[in-house]
Amino acid sequence: MVVENTKLVRDYVNPSRLPDWDYVINPYTGCTYKCTYCCAEFMQRFSKHQEDWGDFIDAKIATRDINLIKIDGGRIIMSSVTDPYNPYEERYNVTRTILEQLKNANISLHIVTKSNLVLRDLELLKQLKNVSIVFSIATTDENFRKDIEPFAPSFQDRLNAIKILRNEGINTIAYISPIFPELTNYKEIIELTKDYVSEYWLENLNLRGSYRPRILAYINEQHPLYFNLYKEIYRLKTSNYWAEKEKEICEYLKERNIKYRNYFYHEKNRKSYK
Ligand code: SF4
Repeated sequence: MVVENTKLVRDYVNPSRLPDWDYVINPYTGCTYKCTYCCAEFMQRFSKHQEDWGDFIDAKIATRDINLIKIDGGRIIMSSVTDPYNPYEERYNVTRTILEQLKNANISLHIVTKSNLVLRDLELLKQLKNVSIVFSIATTDENFRKDIEPFAPSFQDRLNAIKILRNEGINTIAYISPIFPELTNYKEIIELTKDYVSEYWLENLNLRGSYRPRILAYINEQHPLYFNLYKEIYRLKTSNYWAEKEKEICEYLKERNIKYRNYFYHEKNRKSYK
């Protein structure tokens, strides 16, 4: 059962420490998609909740309007530690409230989501000056998707939403993330989406903190063929798998003249544009 609350905050917009962004907006604390690889899980410590990450959601209510002068010209990412279109957005409309306030802002806004609920705000999105919808996709395989993102929309729902947004003139991006060694078929994701997105973002699976044993146990149980490889990459750190995979994927995209942004080895803040 999910514990839901509202919580007062001073501002929806916060300065970002992420390399490509000036500001970050997280309309919620918590995320009920419960992805097994969620690197936002550490946020549980900063909440007042006893519940596990994924079992609570706080809808934010800002006590003041967004200062559009302060963020003028800024690059904003929404979101970094929640999904702005998690199912509770249907009830609380926090993301919608924020978009209403950003209608006349001179900003570049990237909305990262897994949800076709974004289509609810299509008309509003059309009124924003520079907005992109970034769909994160780790797999096209529904069985695997249900294992790693048990409460998130299906790949097909995401693909349908991408197509609709694209047809309506909204910029769309596919964020191939996280790339699971040998389990994420990046070529298939690209083949199925390439006619509907303007670029790709790429990020490999990072295993830090409490979710590392969880993912390794899952691989051991459900994909034992790859367990030794995962052990070499994440436990023994003896594999150069990621260096080779990064090169392979980037070459694949370059050969096809497809634009991408590289977030491999995210913690080192390495990035590049084609
Ligand atoms: S959608 Fe993002 S924030 Fe939500 S659980 Fe999944 S990885 Fe975490």
